[in-house]
Amino acid sequence: MWLDLHMLIDPFQRKISYVRISVTDRCDFRCTYCMSEEMQFLPKKDLLSLEELERLSNVLIELGVKKIRITGGEPLVRKNILYLINGVGKKIGKGLEELTITTNGSQLERYAKDLFKNGVKRINISLDTLDKNKFKLITRIGDFNKVIRGINAAKEEGMKIKINTVALKGINDNEILNLVNWCGENKFGLTFIEVMPMGEIGEKRANQYMPLTDVKSLIQTKYSLSDDPLKTGGPARYVHCHETDQKIGFITPHTHNFCESCNRVRITCTGEMYMCLGQQDKADLKTPLRKSKNNDFLKETIYKAISQKPKGHDFVIERKKDEKFVPRHMNVTGG
Ligand code: SAM
Ligand code: SF4
Repeated sequence: MWLDLHMLIDPFQRKISYVRISVTDRCDFRCTYCMSEEMQFLPKKDLLSLEELERLSNVLIELGVKKIRITGGEPLVRKNILYLINGVGKKIGKGLEELTITTNGSQLERYAKDLFKNGVKRINISLDTLDKNKFKLITRIGDFNKVIRGINAAKEEGMKIKINTVALKGINDNEILNLVNWCGENKFGLTFIEVMPMGEIGEKRANQYMPLTDVKSLIQTKYSLSDDPLKTGGPARYVHCHETDQKIGFITPHTHNFCESCNRVRITCTGEMYMCLGQQDKADLKTPLRKSKNNDFLKETIYKAISQKPKGHDFVIERKKDEKFVPRHMNVTGG
């Protein structure tokens, strides 16, 4: 009952039950759609400590958050990340229903066992290609074989794996069917994502953009798909692929506005809470975290921020000179 009264409800009556926490803006890759080649990362002193991130997570769980996703940058390059995973993992079954991670897979060989032991049973791994050379082209500095070993380690551990693939025009459009097949064979879920115009990357977004309607049509040349009723409150629409008996998701910020059922907010590694991925509205949680050991001011700040959550994003792929775009790179809020 207490939780019901104190739930985080936004002005559009959406219940906020899902928080994505970015634990670092750094990454061991430089994916061309996510970052520019030369990135300036935050000074480490600006980051919330792992203890502060744990305290913040506990407060959010108290306020009715049921699902926490740890993301980044690459979350598994944050030093001592298992401290946080262990702390938050202990809350599973005590308010928290699920702890998950989005990762590029590069550190999974090392961490899969401990993540699983600490409660991470489901994981999203980003992989845009099955071609080693193309992988280098997309990630600039990533090691394909290491990622595949990491994916296998997570699979062997028994984690439920979902592969996230950004659809990139002229880059991986000829691999869509391969990816569906590979994920089907491995019993991985698969979600395609449309490129979102976030941050300057030294290239025109429209050059990378491939609408997922095209991806779906391509899949249908070989596979039969039917709509899946699964609703996660998230931006993905799902279909069931009959031949591979697998769920395929489509995250389409441009071709379908996914905001009406939004149940989430995002927190950066410096404690800024963004109410919407595609807007600049944010609240500073670092100050209330540091100002008092008591959580009242922190909770008040969170309530106030949620009461100002915007209705939705307004991403525009073909930006004209004065049109709005999101200056933050994706590694700040973590997808
Ligand atoms: N480093 C981890 C990873 O790659 O999975 C976690 C952070 S990454 C920012 C989270 C997700 O955002 C990844 O699936 C990535 O492919 C996706 N992403 C990054 N930049 C994007 C963009 N501009 N548009 C769409 N998706 C993007
Ligand atoms: Fe790093 Fe993930 Fe961004 Fe790629 S998408 S550069 S792996 S944060």
